[in-house]
Amino acid sequence: MSITPCPGCGAPAEITERFILASTDGPVAHVALSCAGGHHYRMAADRLPAAPSRPPVPRPSASRPSASRPPAPRPPRTARTPSRP
Ligand SMILES: [Zn+2]
Repeated sequence: MSITPCPGCGAPAEITERFILASTDGPVAHVALSCAGGHHYRMAADRLPAAPSRPPVPRPSASRPSASRPPAPRPPRTARTPSRP
């Protein structure tokens, strides 16, 4: 079960259904949600307000300087390609 803010009143709304509708741009994920205030919505999933429970983004601790990938030395650029005779 997912909880998202109700687009109408901001109360916690429960996503009761997920379904796919075809569109001209291809299949679009839709959700049906019902909020604590009695609202019911069916809308595209990507039009939902920002959900409070986003998937966690793995973040390495930023204590170390980035030593994993030193910048590669750039090869010198030739200013001009020699034109063929
Ligand atoms: Zn509502």
